[in-house]
Amino acid sequence: MSSANGEKGAARRLALVTGASRGIGRAVALELGQKGFDVAVNYNNSAEAAETLCEEIAACGVTARAFRGDVSDVASVPSLLKAIEESMGVVQVLVNNAGITRDNLLMRMKEDEWTRVIETNLASVFRCTKEVIRGMVKARWGRIICVSSVVGLVGNAGQANYSAAKAGIIGFAKSVAREYAARGITVNVVAPGFIETDMTKSLNDANKTAALAQIPLNRMGRPLDVARAVAFFASDESEYITGQVLAIDGGMTMC
Ligand code: NAP
Repeated sequence: MSSANGEKGAARRLALVTGASRGIGRAVALELGQKGFDVAVNYNNSAEAAETLCEEIAACGVTARAFRGDVSDVASVPSLLKAIEESMGVVQVLVNNAGITRDNLLMRMKEDEWTRVIETNLASVFRCTKEVIRGMVKARWGRIICVSSVVGLVGNAGQANYSAAKAGIIGFAKSVAREYAARGITVNVVAPGFIETDMTKSLNDANKTAALAQIPLNRMGRPLDVARAVAFFASDESEYITGQVLAIDGGMTMC
């Protein structure tokens, strides 16, 4: 049996991907399974999709199990992590991916639109990371990868809530990277641009054309484009990289 980092006979590492039932999270979970990680697939509403994904991952010869849990809910996160640990063991790789949008112009943005996005996209990152960090410190090895967005770097009209959450993730990740570097734990961020998922499905043709005009590589991104970078940050190959933000945006931002 080969491990996540390819050493024959070594135990497989366990990765938790939040919001893995669809889109980018799904691709990340599958890519990690293909790279030899056992995978805990977190979902909130899409139970069937999560179960189907687990079957696909298991076909790679690793273990994958689905765990329902609303990461925006303060009480749900500890029970989610407890269920994973009891069933699969200690999480060694955490991918903070779950996210939503509730777009509106600032003048029209409701308190609830602000709060839902901050709780789901940012507070969840704090809560999930806090739950896994102790095990990583004990093991003196860990990988935390946070899915931010290019709008966390450059902002976007109509997304003050989402941009604030995504920028917050970057500050959080850099601080935690400094706090735990000496313990063999790396914390990195991917910042996708326009990726073809349910989240961007609602963009109309005019918006898509405008978006494409800003992308030097001249296509929307695929979930796999993000998944490959996440898998690199999850591996031993990235051991000297921490506190970094990698834009995966076809060259859109270059900042
Ligand atoms: P998506 O297709 O809408 O999928 C969102 C995923 O998040 C689903 O699996 C959903 O699970 C899960 N989720 C949502 N709320 C949750 C909660 N409270 N608890 C647990 N899981 C929850 O979105 P996506 O495009 O793949 O986005 C994934 C991440 O990439 C997000 O953080 C997003 O902000 C970021 N991103 C996306 C783009 C893009 O262009 N698509 C660009 C930059 C950044 P259920 O279906 O089971 O509820």
